[in-house]
Amino acid sequence: MMKNRWPVAFQVIETLENAGFEAYVVGGAVRDFIRGVHANDVDITTSATPSEVKQLFSHTIDVGIEHGTVLVVLEETIEVTTFRSEATYSDFRRPDQVAFVRSLREDLERRDFTMNAMALSKEDVVIDYFEGQADIEANLIKAVGDPLKRFSEDALRMLRVIRFSAQLDFQVDENTLEAIQSLHELIRHVSIERVKVELEKIWTTAHAGKGMDMFVSSNLAKEFPGDWSTNVEEWKSFSAFENKINGWAFFALSQEIDINLAEYKCSNAEMMYVKKVLQAANNLEENRWSNYDFFQFEENVLVAAASYTSILAGKQLPYSFEEIHQQKMAIPLASSKDIVVNGNDLMEWAEQKRGPWLKEVIDKLTVALVNGEIQNDRKQIRDWFFREYDN
Ligand code: ATP
Ligand code: MG
Repeated sequence: MMKNRWPVAFQVIETLENAGFEAYVVGGAVRDFIRGVHANDVDITTSATPSEVKQLFSHTIDVGIEHGTVLVVLEETIEVTTFRSEATYSDFRRPDQVAFVRSLREDLERRDFTMNAMALSKEDVVIDYFEGQADIEANLIKAVGDPLKRFSEDALRMLRVIRFSAQLDFQVDENTLEAIQSLHELIRHVSIERVKVELEKIWTTAHAGKGMDMFVSSNLAKEFPGDWSTNVEEWKSFSAFENKINGWAFFALSQEIDINLAEYKCSNAEMMYVKKVLQAANNLEENRWSNYDFFQFEENVLVAAASYTSILAGKQLPYSFEEIHQQKMAIPLASSKDIVVNGNDLMEWAEQKRGPWLKEVIDKLTVALVNGEIQNDRKQIRDWFFREYDN
C-alpha cells in the first residue's frame, strides 16, 4: 500500500484530500510502480492551487509557482504541482504560460507518453486514460494523442523518447517514431541546456549505446554541433558511462575536428576534464605513457583516455585499469605540493630574482623526482640543483 511504500507522499495526499482537494501520485513514480520498480522520487498532482497548497503545510518552498509547483517539506521533500494544461506553445518549446485546471484528466493529457500519463490514488487505484499500463506491458513508448502535434508543442519530447527507450529498454511505437523522423529539425528550437540534460541521462542509462544509435538514426543528432554519426558503432559498445562527463570525453575524443563543448554549454570544470582526457590520449606514444604522464593525470583521466582510445582505434587497452592504478601508485611524487623545497629556496641557492627560469627549474626538478632520479629530500634536491645549474 502507498502508506508503506511512500509514507510521506501518502501523508501529503491525505492532507490535501481532507481539505477537500484531489491529489495523486503521477509521472515516473506511477510508471515505475506498474513496472514493479521502487521509485524514490515521487511527484504529486493536485486540484489545489499553489496558494491553497501553501496554506495546508507549514513548511513549503516556492520553486515554480507560475508553473504550479510547490515543494512540501516534511521528513522528505515532495513536489506538489497543481493540475494544469499547457495551452500556449509558441515556438516548439515548453509553454510560456500554463493554465491551472480542476480536472485530473486534462493534467494527464498534457503529459508526454502514455506510460508517464497515469495517476495513482492513495488507495493504489491506477487512473489510466491512455492505456499506459498496456503499453508498459508491451514495453512500448507511445505519445499521448497525436505525436506530430505533441512534438510540435515541445520538440524536446523527441529526445525524451530516446532517453526513455535507453533507460527502460523499451521499443518506440511506430507512429511516434515516424513523427520523430519527420519533425527532427524542430529539435533546434529547444534550448541546448535541456538537450544536454537528456544526452547526459542517455549516457548514464543501462542502454546508452542503444540510445546513441537512435539519436543518430532518428536524425536528431544532425541538428547539433559535431559529428555524432561516424563513430556510432563505437558508441554502441557502451552499456552505461560511469558518469555524464565521460560521455562528453568520449564525444570529444571521437571527433575528427576539434569540438568546442561550450556550444553544448558544458561548464568550465567539465571542459577542463575533457581537455585532460584529450591530452592524456594524445600523450600515448606507441601505446605507452611516461612516468610524468602518470604523475600529471588523475587516475580517472587515465582510465577514460585508455579505454576510449582503445575503443575508437579498435586496439587493445594500453594498460589494464589495475596497471594504471599500480603505475600511478608507483610514482614517488604524488603532487607538486609535496616537493619539500620551494621557490624561495631555489632563488636563494641561485642568488637570482624570480623569473621565467624558476618555472623551468621547478619543472625539471619535478621530472627528476617523478622519475625517481633523486628523492624528495632537501639535501638531495640541493645537490641536484648545484650539479645541474652551478656551472
Ligand atoms: P525519471 O525517472 O527520469 O525522473 P520521470 O517520468 O519522472 O522520469 P521527469 O522528467 O522527471 O520524468 O518528468 C516527470 C513527469 O512530467 C513525466 O513523467 C511526464 O508525465 C511529465 N513531463 C516531463 N517532461 C515533459 C514534457 N516535456 N512534456 C510533457 N510531459 C512531460
Ligand atoms: Mg522525475
